[in-house]
Amino acid sequence: MPFLPLSQVRHLRDELQDTKAEISTWGCEGYGDNIKQWSDSCDEDVGAVVRVTSAEEAAIVVRFATRHQIPLAVRGGGYSTSGSSTARGGIVLDLAKLRRVRIDPEARVVVAEGGALWADIDVAAAQHGLAVVGSTLSHIGAAGATLGGGYGWLTGQYGLAIDNLRWAKVVLADGSIVIASETSHPDLFWALRGAGQEFGVAVELGFRAHPQRNAVFAGTLLFPPEKLSVVVDFANRFETQTDGKQGLWFGFTVAPAMTQCCILVVVFYNGDQERAEQFFAPLLQAEPIANTAGMIPYDSLNGILNTTDTLHRRGSDTEVNISYPLDVAMGPRKSMLGSNVTLPLDLAFVQSVYDEFNGMITNCPQTRDSRLLFELLPNAQIMRVPDDATAFANRGPYYNVSCLFRWYDADLDVQLRLWQASLLGRIEETAGIKRPGYQGPRRGTGIYANYAGHDASSKILFGDNFPRLQELKKKYDPHNTFDKWHRIRPLVNNRE
Ligand SMILES: Cc1cc2nc3c(=O)[nH]c(=O)nc-3n(C[C@H](O)[C@H](O)[C@H](O)COP(=O)(O)OP(=O)(O)OC[C@H]3O[C@@H](n4cnc5c(N)ncnc54)[C@H](O)[C@@H]3O)c2cc1C
Repeated sequence: MPFLPLSQVRHLRDELQDTKAEISTWGCEGYGDNIKQWSDSCDEDVGAVVRVTSAEEAAIVVRFATRHQIPLAVRGGGYSTSGSSTARGGIVLDLAKLRRVRIDPEARVVVAEGGALWADIDVAAAQHGLAVVGSTLSHIGAAGATLGGGYGWLTGQYGLAIDNLRWAKVVLADGSIVIASETSHPDLFWALRGAGQEFGVAVELGFRAHPQRNAVFAGTLLFPPEKLSVVVDFANRFETQTDGKQGLWFGFTVAPAMTQCCILVVVFYNGDQERAEQFFAPLLQAEPIANTAGMIPYDSLNGILNTTDTLHRRGSDTEVNISYPLDVAMGPRKSMLGSNVTLPLDLAFVQSVYDEFNGMITNCPQTRDSRLLFELLPNAQIMRVPDDATAFANRGPYYNVSCLFRWYDADLDVQLRLWQASLLGRIEETAGIKRPGYQGPRRGTGIYANYAGHDASSKILFGDNFPRLQELKKKYDPHNTFDKWHRIRPLVNNRE
């Protein structure tokens, strides 16, 4: 792909003159910061980063890219580790200045601009005693997470973020701005809920909010590896004991000052401390080596797993006055990949995952900040929605497993990604819905598209919903302007 020629940059500047959009190109002051992604492995030289301040400015950029067939990427929170929010040599449409959040407390609706982070939404909604289903990491872009599905601690009570999406204002590939909802462009609304990144720029999203005045019980526990059986035992009873108000994540990471992996457990209970402590008693009484669990306000909940983030480059252009920590380090290289498991888990299998993961970290110490998590969020509300009601294709009686690798040396990119794919593949084939002899209901593909990483096949990701997505791609994005996420090709003459 040729680098964006200067003549086109000039042309784009002309189209954006008299607007507040900022264009940053190679050689401009701040260009280096503007191309920074959450993962160093995704930093690419681009032709231009355009930071827009309105839907209309975004529309000018999208129309320009489509008309001139320039590679375009949309960047929200920048957390993609597969490079889907950057475009080598092309245009990055940066939504960092579209972060305003409005609340309608009477209607219980939260309206967030397309670049809002979950932190913006959580804090704004909490001021009215409300909450939405949002990611467990509050520095992630709300639109980026929602368009692919959106799991959060409230999923057990209210389903996915898309199940609580009432409408979205979208810039389409031709630069038109439309509202997608159950009554306006319902086919587009169907596609946006699960595969939205492939259909346009969501410049505004309207979420159903839920009353959330009470504080919640949450935090992290660390256990030595010898306690694995206690944790797996508890996890295996989780499904029958939860009433939807709890969440349990557990997995492996290296704690500071340790040289081998310990067991990380994240607990969540939307209720009072007494009941929470009863529910999690087997874990709390198992002598964790560290325990931060306690009552916290809901708007702090999704910050408990935040680490180094991108906020230093984003400012705080929002109506809510939030002051963020000033993290300066963006790197290192990262890769996120997912899989699935069903319960009950076999202890020997989980032990083998620990051994393999721990082996990598001890053999390659620069990966020590990696982590692997079994994410048990009650799934009844997710499965209540039929598979063909939205494009999202991961509604089944199983749980996500996420694996985040971090490393520094670019020479290890290929090797570590292959190793990660092999580990996650083994998890699915041994303990997930693809294992031989799996007897449970055949629902969903078992792959959360937002965790799918590099080179995932969109046909496999979207399963039975894939043909309809291709048809809609032909209708809404026939020239494939939005092709950086999982590359759904428009249907051509009824062929793929
Ligand atoms: C450490 C970590 C923790 C995570 N935890 C969770 C979790 O708890 N729950 C969960 O559901 N997911 C989780 N995810 C997955 C996360 O939801 C996706 O990575 C999401 O796409 C990130 O969105 P972003 O805007 O921050 O990233 P970006 O890199 O900016 O964008 C990711 C993709 O979304 C597109 N996009 C972003 N904003 C828009 C927009 N407004 N309109 C159109 N397209 C847009 C981009 O073009 C790109 O294709 C996690 C990921 C990581 C790395």
